[in-house]
Amino acid sequence: MKYKRILLKLSGESLMGENQYGIDPIRLEQYTHEIKNVVEMGVEVAIVIGGGNIFRGVQAESSGIDRVQGDYMGMLATVINGMALQSALEKAGLYTRMMSGIKMEQVCEPFIKRRAVRHLEKGRVVIFGAGIGNPYFTTDSTASLRAIEIQADVVLKGTRVDGVYTSDPEKNPEATKYANLSFQEAYEKGLNIMDMTAFTLCQENNLPIIVFDMNKSGNLAEIMNGNVNGTIIN
Ligand code: UDP
Repeated sequence: MKYKRILLKLSGESLMGENQYGIDPIRLEQYTHEIKNVVEMGVEVAIVIGGGNIFRGVQAESSGIDRVQGDYMGMLATVINGMALQSALEKAGLYTRMMSGIKMEQVCEPFIKRRAVRHLEKGRVVIFGAGIGNPYFTTDSTASLRAIEIQADVVLKGTRVDGVYTSDPEKNPEATKYANLSFQEAYEKGLNIMDMTAFTLCQENNLPIIVFDMNKSGNLAEIMNGNVNGTIIN
């Protein structure tokens, strides 16, 4: 196995599937299937899920809501997604724990690094909800930070495109995909892989990022076997 412990970052938006809002049960089931496959391969899986399908802090200001308040609302949105995913994973027979960056004891444990690692060692899928618990951050930054804390081997950014392109492939048909990139190259070319905080954290801690298409069945498991159909940044 190429990777023993992974941090999988899923965006909230991807959970919408074909819908405009909320959680698509078909997508949820598909992700569950992909995750179950790699857990059964013996990989330790931690997950950070976004909240963009429900609420984003930056939207708040346009609706007259204070930015900081909005960010907390966004963090709570990630908890809603995390709970949905947790439930789906458990239904599929996996053991899971959700840990939150904001204390909410009735629904999940607080994030405690050593506990998170212990859960992973026992084969439980650990979902990190509520971001890092602070406004002005994103779930990408959460993914980088938690991955470093739990000493994950890689951050896997599951998206709907199959890697990093020279320009947006959904807008420019001439765009070509990078198989490999260094952090420096990605920075110099201004490629938008993660926000700068998240990106810099990975760079400074030598944590590789893989951008891949999470909607393509079997992709995640293939990466565990060392066949990356996506872009590696290291
Ligand atoms: N958020 C935050 N601090 C964090 C993580 C998230 O304030 O540590 C808020 C922020 O407002 C963000 C929202 O939660 O817009 C939802 O997360 P994100 O936009 O990263 O989700 P995604 O784009 O992955 O769906």
